Amino acid sequence: MVSQVLGIIGGGQLGSLLAQAAKKINIETVIFSDDSEAPAKKFAKHFISGSYEDSLKINDFLNLVDLVTFEFENIPYLTLNKINEFKKVLPKPGINKIIQNRLLEKDFINSHNIRTTSYASISNKKDLELNSNLLPGILKTCTMGYDGKGQYKINSINDLDNLNIDFQKDYILEKLVNLKKEISVIVTRFGKEKYEIYEPIENHHENQILKSSKIPANISKEIFKQSIEWAKLIAHELEYIGTMCVEFFIDNNENLYVNEIAPRVHNSGHMTINSHNVSQFENHIRAVCGLEKIETKKEFNAKMINLIGEEIKMYKNKNLNDNEFFFDYLKKEIRSKRKMGHLTIIEK
Ligand code: ADP
Ligand code: MG
Repeated sequence: MVSQVLGIIGGGQLGSLLAQAAKKINIETVIFSDDSEAPAKKFAKHFISGSYEDSLKINDFLNLVDLVTFEFENIPYLTLNKINEFKKVLPKPGINKIIQNRLLEKDFINSHNIRTTSYASISNKKDLELNSNLLPGILKTCTMGYDGKGQYKINSINDLDNLNIDFQKDYILEKLVNLKKEISVIVTRFGKEKYEIYEPIENHHENQILKSSKIPANISKEIFKQSIEWAKLIAHELEYIGTMCVEFFIDNNENLYVNEIAPRVHNSGHMTINSHNVSQFENHIRAVCGLEKIETKKEFNAKMINLIGEEIKMYKNKNLNDNEFFFDYLKKEIRSKRKMGHLTIIEK
């Protein structure tokens, strides 16, 4: 079989890890990024940088590839849809249209009888007053948020006076869940009834940014089963191809809620590079390129720690034990709250 050339839109750490996984199974990659210094540049066969609206640059990219995938969901839907007219985009762009908007995403999840926290669409202060039953809550921009960006904790309507919220944007107000725990389930869907599903991962956030993840998650059998069932149902209903992640909340009464869907490989699954025979990245490449599905098995329990901002410095020249794996995302500039690398520790 002639090997395919896979185009990846986005050149951050997820793009780098996808390109490395592709190389391992002899799939060539071409990265398109809006950052000319994107870290993934070093791992792809070809690298093209330009804005997502630059049709000439996008044409150059499309001429080099057989099919296209992406590392993050916020690529303009129109761009993805246009690309899909020339080269197949997987997962399909229609999925992004839903997930790019927190309101459409939550409506979609609820339409399949899957629990989320209560929420309302908010366009102005009046809407907030009308939905005061959702307080304390979190006000989130409907689009373009990540790592807690564009989110405001609101305890009472009066908080608004200090927050200076730009109501030119659309918001969703979500009732605050009394969190006992957060977990995620990573699913790779290869096609109808063809899934590889990783066991639930327990996640710990600090300042709304993922700080660490571990398997096994310390959860009940019921939550284990229900979270996998819901993640699988969501992948099925989206007719998803590739790896995706569902983030969940568990409250103090052991209720499970879907927080959000990430239509891509996910930070909480980085340990799968070292803990499983097939990583979330390799499974994504296999699924989108239509390669054979390999039964995915856990080889080790593991913990992953994100290295955020200056934390990366400590690890650059550190001697590691043979059960520790350090990943440096090779980002040029250290910024606070920026994910700079991660460390995975497997239990041997
Ligand atoms: P992002 O797209 O930035 O990941 P999330 O909606 O996942 O946004 O929010 C980031 C984190 O903030 C969550 O993982 C959780 O820790 C906290 N959080 C968000 N929404 C809620 C909520 N409704 N109740 C409790 N905690 C929340
Ligand atoms: Mg999240």
